[in-house]
Amino acid sequence: MTRQLAHEIGKKHSATERRRPADVLEVAGVFVWPPRPGAILIWLFGSHGYLLPWNALYFAIALICWFLFTPEMSAMKDIKLGWISLILLRNLGLTIIVFGAWHLYFYILKRQKADFKFNEKQPPTNSKSFLFRHQVWDNIFWTVVSAVPIWTGYEVVMLWAYANDVIPFMSWSSHPVFFAAQLALIPFIRDIHFYVVHRLLHWRPLYRRIHKLHHHNVNPCPWSGLAMHPIEHLFYFSGVLLHWFVASHPVHILFHLQHAALSPAQGHCGFDRISISDGMSISTDNYFHYLHHKYFECNYGGDGFPAFDMLFGTFNDGTKAAKGRLEKRLTNE
Ligand SMILES: [Zn+2]
Ligand SMILES: [Zn+2]
Repeated sequence: MTRQLAHEIGKKHSATERRRPADVLEVAGVFVWPPRPGAILIWLFGSHGYLLPWNALYFAIALICWFLFTPEMSAMKDIKLGWISLILLRNLGLTIIVFGAWHLYFYILKRQKADFKFNEKQPPTNSKSFLFRHQVWDNIFWTVVSAVPIWTGYEVVMLWAYANDVIPFMSWSSHPVFFAAQLALIPFIRDIHFYVVHRLLHWRPLYRRIHKLHHHNVNPCPWSGLAMHPIEHLFYFSGVLLHWFVASHPVHILFHLQHAALSPAQGHCGFDRISISDGMSISTDNYFHYLHHKYFECNYGGDGFPAFDMLFGTFNDGTKAAKGRLEKRLTNE
């Protein structure tokens, strides 16, 4: 790796420094060979790594939703329009708040102008690749009309199944260690699932009919994150079915689904870093997946988690050498 440690506490920038996005993907020390034990601890518990800040943020949102915005289990025993509508509205509200906040900050208020932006162009407003010829409206359409209802559908089925003891339930008090370990592993499990499903969707017949819609976004913005064909949404959210077989709690379901639903706004924001105060910025863990949108046949894994791509030879860190390897691989296929 050309750079040693990606997930530093936050970069300081001098006032005169021109803020450019990374040209080479920074990889956390946990993914380099030979292993560096200290780097694993920093990655797990450091101020920017596996848990902090992004996964902890999505977990906090899931907890708030569980305690404040989820009906009582007894109310979810029967399939009724009332509680299902509440969950649909809650998920729609979450989507508007989270995706809307990223979009508002970067693309409406333009608080960072083009600082750290990978592609200095704005999303197209007159392109035949998109519904309404407008990338953002197209992306919002697929998110609201397909992603939110399908995400809600999975959640409703899972919650109904808990309420009726159809699937194995685990409480915090009965198995605190397994409960916490399962929560901590959910982003990792999502990465495995995403890698497998995503590679499948790049199989030519599926790509042409289904996944191509997402790849119209060669210059992604936050709303591009869930701009997918409905069949891709069915694949994409299906990882939550794991809890049908592994004893879990509804809070695991909420975290699993909300992580899948909300993290793509961050993962497609189009900016390498977000300024958090004067001269300080934090990585959006966005470059890895941005390179997937730029070069298509590489970096199939989740944001900032290159392990499977490294293992299967599809890793691209944005260097000329990686681009050469990609071209060689494609001509041999
Ligand atoms: Zn994408
Ligand atoms: Zn893809």
